[in-house]
Amino acid sequence: MTILVTGAAGFMGSHFVKYVLEAYPTYRVVVLDKLTYAGNLDNLKEVVLNPRYTFVQGDIADPGVLQKIFNEHPIEVVVNYAAETHVDRSVMDPTAFLKTNVFGVYHLLEAVRQFGVKRMIQISTDEVFGSIDVGAFTETSAFEPNSPYSAAKAGGDLLCRSYVATHNVPVIVTHSCNVYGPHQYPEKLIPLFITNLIEGKKVSLYGDGLNVREWIYVTDHCRAIDRIMHEGILGEVYNIGTGEEMTNRAITLVVLSAMKYDKDMIEMVQDRPGHDRRYAIDHTKLTTKLGWQPDVRFEEGIRQTIEWYRKN
Ligand code: NAD
Repeated sequence: MTILVTGAAGFMGSHFVKYVLEAYPTYRVVVLDKLTYAGNLDNLKEVVLNPRYTFVQGDIADPGVLQKIFNEHPIEVVVNYAAETHVDRSVMDPTAFLKTNVFGVYHLLEAVRQFGVKRMIQISTDEVFGSIDVGAFTETSAFEPNSPYSAAKAGGDLLCRSYVATHNVPVIVTHSCNVYGPHQYPEKLIPLFITNLIEGKKVSLYGDGLNVREWIYVTDHCRAIDRIMHEGILGEVYNIGTGEEMTNRAITLVVLSAMKYDKDMIEMVQDRPGHDRRYAIDHTKLTTKLGWQPDVRFEEGIRQTIEWYRKN
C-alpha cells in the first residue's frame, strides 16, 4: 500500500511516517510538505534513506503538485496533517490559515475524487467545537469555532463532510485533543515552556492559567490514526481523546517540578482574545468500535518529552 502523508515534516505527521514505516514493512510513504517555518526535514532524518519513503516539497493547495504525485505514485490512502496550526498566528493574520486549512483540503479532496483514492483521513482538532464548561463534545456536536485557526479547520472538515454527501468521496474526519511529545515546534505551550526553562527563562501563562485542555501523547495519536486508517468506517467522524484534562497552570507546575524549578518562574500575561476556557471530547466511539486505548500517561509522556528537548 502507498500512503500520501501531507504535512509530515511537522510534529505529528513525522511521528506517523516513522510509525507506519516501522509497523508495516511493505507499506510505502510519500510525504508532501511545503516546509513552512513549522516543517523541519530533521524530523524525518531517521527515514530519509528508507527505500519505501519519498519526499516531495510542495503545497497541498497546488493542484499541479497533486496531479504530479498522484500520476507518479499509486496512492491508495491520503492522511492530511498539513495545516497552519498556531492559534496566536491566526489571530495576527489568518490568510495562510484559510489557504491551507480550507483551500488545501478542497484541492486534496478533488484529487482524491479524481484519482479514485480508497480513503482519506482528515486530521483535525477538538477546537472546532469551541469551549464547553461541563461534559464533553461527541462526534455529532455542533461546530462553534472561536479562533481563525479553528474556524479554518472547521471549514476544511465541513468540506470533507460535503464531499462524502455530494460526491461519495471516502473521507474520515478525526478530532483530536491537544497533542504533545518530541519534535513539536517550540511555539506551543509545552515545548515553549520546556525550551524556555532549559535556557533559564521564565514561562508566560495566559490570563488566570485556568483554561483546561485534554492531552494525548503523540505516539498514542499515531496508534489511533492507524486504527482509523485500517478499520474506520468511511464517511464517519472519530474523536481522539484520553480524558486526561489539566489546567494550563497544572501543566506548568508539572513541567516546572520535572525540571527542578519552582513557581517563581511563572509570569502571568494578558489573556489571548477569544481564548476558549475548556476543551473536552468524548472518545467512547474510538474505544468501543475500534478497540483503541491510550498507552502513555501524562507524567510519563512529559518526562520523555523533556528528556528529548534536553538532548536536542
Ligand atoms: P505542525 O505545525 O507541527 O506541522 C504542520 C506541517 O504542515 C509543517 O510541516 C508544514 O510545513 C506543513 N504545511 C503547512 N502548510 C502546508 C501546505 N499548504 N502544504 C503542505 N504542507 C504544509 O502541526 P502539527 O501540530 O503536527 O499538526 C498536524 C495536524 O494535526 C494539523 O492539521 C492540526 O490542525 C492537527 N491537530 C494538531 C493538534 C496539536 O495539538 N498539535 C491537535 C489536534 C489536531
